[in-house]
Amino acid sequence: MNNKKIAIYPGTFDPITLGHLDILERGSKLFDKIIVTIAVNQSKVPLFSIEERIEMIHDAITPYNNVTVEKFEGLLVDFATQQNACVILRGLRAISDFEYESQMALMNQHLADDVTTLFLMPNEKYTYLNSTIVKDVAKFGGNVEKFVTKLVVKKLISKFKGM
Ligand code: ADP
Repeated sequence: MNNKKIAIYPGTFDPITLGHLDILERGSKLFDKIIVTIAVNQSKVPLFSIEERIEMIHDAITPYNNVTVEKFEGLLVDFATQQNACVILRGLRAISDFEYESQMALMNQHLADDVTTLFLMPNEKYTYLNSTIVKDVAKFGGNVEKFVTKLVVKKLISKFKGM
């Protein structure tokens, strides 16, 4: 029997930020393995391709030997079950996150009661940070070095230069 505690950490990660990494760092101490899971079939239109997002995540998770990255298409709970994951990890920043997050958690609970959604709060310095704000700032030449990895800064600069 597999007794390893595995969690999936799903999201768009367009691009990964230090807020995402804060949640991963906390999660990596609680679980034997965490699978960062890029949702392919989301309604959001991403700036970065799946391959670009995987590359940036790969680079960012280098310090953690129990964190991997995968993409998935379909129902999140099916992916969790396939991977033997007992937990869906999500970050909770502010009250504004709560409504959507609770709807999703309860729906996933309805679909697969043995997969538990677990919310972690980041350090307060990341509570206002999200990928959209980072892209908006970078688009107009603002400095985002405090919020993302060096590789993400580079990718953002070259993406917006080409537009
Ligand atoms: P989604 O489109 O699924 O919300 P995101 O990539 O925006 O995907 O976020 C993935 C997860 O990471 C979500 O649970 C989100 O709440 C969390 N998250 C995003 N930014 C932060 C942050 N700055 N601090 C903590 N959690 C965050």
